[in-house]
Amino acid sequence: MAARNLTTQGLAAADPPAPGRAPEIQEETQARPLALYVHWPFCASKCPYCDFNSHVADSIDQDAWRRAYLAELDASAAVLAGRRLTSIFFGGGTPSLMDPDTAAAVIGRAREIWPDNAGAALEITLEANPNSAEAARFEAFHAAGINRLSLGIQALDDSALTFLGRTHSAAEALKALGRAKAHFPRVNADMIYARPGQTVAAWRDELARLLDEGLGHMSLYQLTIERGTPFFAAHRHGDFALPMEDDQARLYQATGDALAQAGLTAYEVSSYARPGEECRHNLTYWRYGDFLGLGPGAHGRLTLPGAALATENLRAPADWLEAVGRCGRGLKAETPLTVADRIHEMVVMGLRLGEGIDADDFRAVTGGGFADHLNTVAMARMVQAGYLSADDGRIKATLEGRLRLDAMIAALLG
Ligand code: SF4
Repeated sequence: MAARNLTTQGLAAADPPAPGRAPEIQEETQARPLALYVHWPFCASKCPYCDFNSHVADSIDQDAWRRAYLAELDASAAVLAGRRLTSIFFGGGTPSLMDPDTAAAVIGRAREIWPDNAGAALEITLEANPNSAEAARFEAFHAAGINRLSLGIQALDDSALTFLGRTHSAAEALKALGRAKAHFPRVNADMIYARPGQTVAAWRDELARLLDEGLGHMSLYQLTIERGTPFFAAHRHGDFALPMEDDQARLYQATGDALAQAGLTAYEVSSYARPGEECRHNLTYWRYGDFLGLGPGAHGRLTLPGAALATENLRAPADWLEAVGRCGRGLKAETPLTVADRIHEMVVMGLRLGEGIDADDFRAVTGGGFADHLNTVAMARMVQAGYLSADDGRIKATLEGRLRLDAMIAALLG
């Protein structure tokens, strides 16, 4: 569907319900919970595997960025007041390079806009890198209101860290982790595995050292080669090779086994947590809840009276900053979502979750059951093959299914 540009006033005016629009959208939307994502687009250096919207800048006008986030939050909040704010997530980029006062200002303004949610229940995450300069700022970020830190460790092997273009050592990463645990009640560690030449035994060893830290949450991603990155060109030129598919599957299996033995469940394809430690913000994405995105390139999904919208902000930091200064929003496009769009997105996100997709939730969003909207022949075949379970009013990908999720989703939606 073609995107259209709207102002916040346009949202407030709300389009009339369109044919094929899901019934739930026409119901009261004010009670829907809301997550807030804030994108900080700067990093100290660019990692060669990274295709995120992250940039290295000579200088950053921290005051201008603080004003811009607050302006976009105020403008967006006009149609979202009365919602229940459940989480704030400062992502990037490297948001630990943000002035802690900026984080405090955004958190404070969000609590003013959504006052019913003030209190300990609000999960507020900041992504950080483990170099020592940033770790020294943890205390200030905690004072700003951050209560969950997500630390990009990526590897506990110095040669792997060099390969990944990281600017910290394994020892610095563990030191930063210790400091993070001292300041934040909840800490996540991000790691990248299935690296060139990595054996299951070596990965088990790295995992064991990380598990010794007693974290409640880990995000463990397989290395992927993204178009447009330095790794893409290097991989194409044969400078390195990723593990073969079977080896990747063995590494994934070993990951799940090691984490399960330590009491962390794979509640999502790449996310492992002790009970109650799941990332509530990311669960909003995977459960297809509403979220507001602030900052360059940030996306949003908002259910408003009469419309479900996908929002996308201008990607270039300078363009976003200029647009917010001019009109209060850095919006690139707002696109109404059809029922077909929402089915697609809900299946893509929901099958990543261990809990899968609840039939009642699916009906609320799509107006129909699984059999009405998904390929029932493909579904039956997947159940028989052991890739999908369909009981207790849910569909879920099994462990075997998780290894072939893209193909399953294509078949279910075909
Ligand atoms: S620090 Fe993170 S966001 Fe920045 S370039 Fe590296 S991977 Fe990308």
